[in-house]
Amino acid sequence: MASMMQPQIILLKEGTDTSQGRAQVVSNINACTAVADTVRTTLGPRGMDKLIHDDKGGVTISNDGATIMRLLDIVHPAAKILVDIARSQDSEVGDGTTTVVLLAAEFLKEAKPYVEDGVHPHSLIRSYRTAGNMAIQRVKELAVSIEGKSLEEKKSLLAKCAATTLSSKLIGGEKEFFASMVVDAVLAIGNDDRLNLIGIKKVPGGTMRDSFLVNGVAFKKTFSYAGFEQQPKKFLNPKILLLNIELELKSEKENAEIRLSDPLQYQSIVDAEWNIIYDKLDKCVKSGAKIVLSRLAIGDLATQYFADRDIFCAGRVTEEDLQRVAAATGGMVQTSVNNVIDEVLGSCEVFEEKQVGNERFNIFSGCPSGQTATIVLRGGADQFIEEAERSLHDAIMIVRRALKNSTVVPGGGAIDMEISKYLRQHARTIAGKSQFFVNSFAKALEVIPRQLCDNAGFDATDVLNKLRQKHASGEGANYGVDINTGGIADSFANFVWEPAVVKINAINAATEASCLILSVDETVKNPKSESAQGEAAAGAMAGRGGGAMRGRGERGMRRR
Ligand code: ADP
Ligand code: MG
Repeated sequence: MASMMQPQIILLKEGTDTSQGRAQVVSNINACTAVADTVRTTLGPRGMDKLIHDDKGGVTISNDGATIMRLLDIVHPAAKILVDIARSQDSEVGDGTTTVVLLAAEFLKEAKPYVEDGVHPHSLIRSYRTAGNMAIQRVKELAVSIEGKSLEEKKSLLAKCAATTLSSKLIGGEKEFFASMVVDAVLAIGNDDRLNLIGIKKVPGGTMRDSFLVNGVAFKKTFSYAGFEQQPKKFLNPKILLLNIELELKSEKENAEIRLSDPLQYQSIVDAEWNIIYDKLDKCVKSGAKIVLSRLAIGDLATQYFADRDIFCAGRVTEEDLQRVAAATGGMVQTSVNNVIDEVLGSCEVFEEKQVGNERFNIFSGCPSGQTATIVLRGGADQFIEEAERSLHDAIMIVRRALKNSTVVPGGGAIDMEISKYLRQHARTIAGKSQFFVNSFAKALEVIPRQLCDNAGFDATDVLNKLRQKHASGEGANYGVDINTGGIADSFANFVWEPAVVKINAINAATEASCLILSVDETVKNPKSESAQGEAAAGAMAGRGGGAMRGRGERGMRRR
């Protein structure tokens, strides 16, 4: 094609693939729509789950947008942006990952006819940005604060938010049970930012209802040596010593060389080794601790030694669990047993080794600083528990968010309909073609209630009409899809609540992503960029091309 026009000027390496122009924008939009279609059916309480199995034979069943997007291994450069926003939503707020992908794809879908008709993408982008900002402003106005309530009230409000998140998940059937568990866990860790203070332990077997919350720490019994059976398995108010050293009889390093002139001297070396370990053990016992935990191995000698003195020990405790025990019991992890003072010992009300399913668990409860909680999850299949863990993670994040920002909005598509109405009203006051674009943005927001209906098998057109009418009447701002009857209902009254930050972040990220994709009108593919060293070359090319070739498309995408 190009050869028929001007003589060709080649700026790029041979084999470089470029595609550009309006067709490129449209093709990017199509790719994004295709990606959104894969997660579309997972939205809402009646959403379906996806089973993804990878080339290594791993199987994951999930309802979580971010998890699915991550596992899909998307290669299309524009569609990858959707994966990124799902991930950022997941790390920012923890929930609303399907929502953000659907919104972004819908914004783009609405923009497509305009692009095809020759509207310059930048006109669209400008209108979308304004509409996005107005939408966020409106969410903030409509959000209801839960500040200043008593603890009991707050608890039940937070449990409602958690229940809304959980209702779309595999464990939705037991949402109240898990919601209150999640709220208790989050309140237990208080203002601490470290999310890993809430441990989730998975024990296959039993039913969901057998899951329980430990107000403290629980971890699976570690590998143990003979003598362990004789150790006591339950203590009241024990002192706990946390170590990061090995308590094992160590023969001298293999490469050490010692010359002896008298065979008797050999015995003294062996004795010295024994003395070292006995000295360490003795110091542990003298510290007054009844429980000794170490991140490194505790050998058979030490196990027996402790057993003889009615002390419980566990070696090879994972770093994470040890930190959690430290946070909960107020102890400090020691790297030496010399001078163990009382202050570094932790304590708890009850320590117990208990049977959970067919595993033994070490459980520390009634911890003084109480800054940890552990949820022990039970359930049938492995995949089921894995998904349950991901769902609880969403719920935990939501409760933390709600606790921090303490404003909520009605879910079930209510807030989306209300903003849509607001933007439509605003659009009428705009002169010029921008009116159409803002209108399209408003229409795109309706994708959430529409998809909720579609996924539940309701007549989406019918429900949406009812919703539009209700919202237009001016007093139905809280009305959303009623997932139980297929009609409409006051989401606020039904306690379908979401933290406002979920919506704000979702609209923000979706608007940004759609604008980004609309602004890309050229993709340059460097043939060598597949190899690792080619990566650098690609960067160099994009830099060079910046002036000559407008390689900004490719770079724009790499940026995120
Ligand atoms: P995401 O990954 O975006 O969080 P979900 O599958 O969790 O997707 O679905 C969330 C949507 O489902 C939200 O729009 C929320 O308002 C809606 N939803 C949750 N529970 C209910 C319910 N009981 N009735 C109606 N809508 C609900
Ligand atoms: Mg969710």
